[in-house]
Formats: sequence, C-alpha cells, structure tokens
Amino acid sequence: MSDAVVVVWDDALLGYTLGGDHPLHPVRLDLTMRLADGLGVLSGDRVRVLAPTPADEALLTLVHDPAYLEAVRRAPADPSVGHGLGTPDNPVFDGMYDASALVAGGSVLAARQLHTGAAQHAVNIAGGLHHAMRGTASGFCVFNDAAVAIAWLLDQGYERIAYVDVDVHHGDGVQAAFYDDPRVLTVSIHQTPLTLFPGTGYPEETGNPEKASGSAVNLALPNGTDDSGWLRAFDAVVPSVLRAFAPQILVTQCGCDAHHEDPLADLALTIDGQRAGYRALHELAHELCEGRWLALGGGGYGLVRCVPRAWTHLIAELAGAPVDPRTEIPQSWRDDVVRRGLRARPPTSMTEGGYAGFARWDALGDSRIDRAVLRTRRASFPYFGLDPDDPRD
Ligand SMILES: [Zn+2]
Ligand SMILES: [Zn+2]
Repeated sequence: MSDAVVVVWDDALLGYTLGGDHPLHPVRLDLTMRLADGLGVLSGDRVRVLAPTPADEALLTLVHDPAYLEAVRRAPADPSVGHGLGTPDNPVFDGMYDASALVAGGSVLAARQLHTGAAQHAVNIAGGLHHAMRGTASGFCVFNDAAVAIAWLLDQGYERIAYVDVDVHHGDGVQAAFYDDPRVLTVSIHQTPLTLFPGTGYPEETGNPEKASGSAVNLALPNGTDDSGWLRAFDAVVPSVLRAFAPQILVTQCGCDAHHEDPLADLALTIDGQRAGYRALHELAHELCEGRWLALGGGGYGLVRCVPRAWTHLIAELAGAPVDPRTEIPQSWRDDVVRRGLRARPPTSMTEGGYAGFARWDALGDSRIDRAVLRTRRASFPYFGLDPDDPRD
C-alpha cells in the first residue's frame, strides 16, 4: 500500500502537561517521536510531518459550550472554576487553553489533509482526548479533539463517519457528542465499565432511540483479555458493523492502555496484539473508505515500555512500511530513557513475542470473551440488518 501520509507533530504539543506525577505525561509522546525517528519511520518519502495551529473558537464550539471555553481560559487564574477542572484527574496548568486548542487543531489539520486528498492517512498521536464532554473536562481530557475533527468533517458534507476507539477506556465523550447523530457511528472496545472508568460503555448503549438508533456500538471486555481474545472480539464485531455502515472516512482512537503493563487498567495485550489491531484498522480503511484514515492517539500510561513502541508501530503501519517486530531498539534511544531518569527499564526489541493470531468467534463459544461478543452483537447487530447469532455476519 503506497499512500501519502501526514504525521502531525510539533514539540509544542508537549505543552499539554498535567504535572510531573500525572499519568498522562508528555514524555510518552516525546519518546514515541524519537523512537519513530530513530527507526526511520518518519523519513519515508511518503511521510510528511506537519505542525498544527491551535483550533479557534469556531472549531471548538462545534462540540463545546462557549461557557466551558471561558472556564478553561480562566482556570489558571481561578482554579475553582468548576467544569471538571482543578481535580486530581484534570489539574489546571499554565497555558492549558492554548495547549488543549493545539491538540484539537492537530486533529483538525489531520482531517483536513484527508478531506483535500493531500494525504490518504493522517495521524495525531497527541490527540484522542476522548473523555472530554461538551461542558466539562474529564479523564485527563480538556477539549475533545476527536469530536471536533469529526464535527469539522460533518461540516464539509460527509454523511457517514465511523469512529473506532480501541482505548481500554470507553470513548464516552465522543459517543456523547454524536449520540443523536446518525451520520456518525461510534464503536468502542474497552474494559468492562464494571471495573473501569468512566463506568459507561455497556453494549445496550446503542444511540438515541428517537434519532440515531444503532449509531453507537459498545464491546465491553472482561479483565485480563489478551491479544487473541481481543482480536477475536474485534473481528466478531467491528468489520461487520463497519461494512454495513459503509463509512466515507474512518477515524480511530488508538489509545494503547489495553497493554498488560498499563498501570491504570486490567487488560493484557502485548505490543504485538496492538500492532495487529492497528493493521486491521488500516485494512478496513482501504476496504471501506478508499483509504481515508484519521488515526489519533489516546491513553497509554506505560510511558517507556508501551506507548513509544505501540505508536511507532502505528505510524509505521500508516506509512505502509511496518516495522519488523524483531527490530532492535536503538541504543541511543535506550540511553536517552536512562538519561531522563525514568524508572522503567527501556525495552530492547519492538516485539514482546505476543501471539497475535486468533480463532474466529463462533456462536456456541462460552468463554467470557464470547459472551461479551454475543451481548454486543445482540444489542447492535439488528440495527445493521445483521444476525447476531450467525458467525458469517
Ligand atoms: Zn494504507
Ligand atoms: Zn484510556
């Protein structure tokens, strides 16, 4: 696959920093870009790196209340401003408005590249802040760049946009932004809300029944789900609903916190399973959307051992030049990790030796994964004219 690819990046994106001890530390993005660069992923002749400009008010108010924008602006001087700001999850920091607007601007820039045809795939690893709501910060997210980019695409006349969220947490903010809108299908695969923030994302959340029934699909997986189980569940739900919906563009939130070492969640994927998931999304973008694929980052709190490898694989996948999993990690990158005083042991290889194969779902399966799959298929498939119990659907 030979596509023009845009990687949105500027070191200014590191300004989205919630404080030294906060899990969403921007060093994860810095280490990712350095690893990708060190492995030659950014120097392919089809790859362009573009610096974003901040999203203006007209863009941000596509999905956020003006009063909330004002609160974000005022918060550094008045931390008791409310709107979910100034909490342990969403601490106030200097320059918060500008840093958050820059992330959103990056995702809109990526969307614009696809819309104009300048690129077939575009990625903003600083984006994917999927928990932010219309009038509140939530889950480390101030402005919902994913929702802003989708709303901008709707304004350009797209009628069917699919959003697939593979972050370990439910993509609640994006789902909420488009719950009433049949033009946007949101699909989220996550750890069950019974055991994880934000406590939503049950299969029975399927879109506003009056206005947009079937426009949300939720696949809630049991704690401990590994590569094979995750891929089996993905395969049993996502391709079918996407094919039925026939999107014009695919937006993916590629949070990598489903990793087995992630400190905030309890799924058990390896880098190898995550890489396979990104490949599956890439194939769907070509099969269904003439390649139009907007990839965003998201969660991921294994700052050293997970995020840099997972998203280097993601960028390489977009660029059509996948990194061989057996590739050794450059010593200079490892030295940099040590020099920064980061506690985690730097990885040596781009693989964890995970098994990224899976057996296809069948309706008679009775594992916890299969029961989760069936619950989602029964809640959602009828809206797409699909048979929940027929494994061919
Ligand atoms: Zn491609
Ligand atoms: Zn997450």
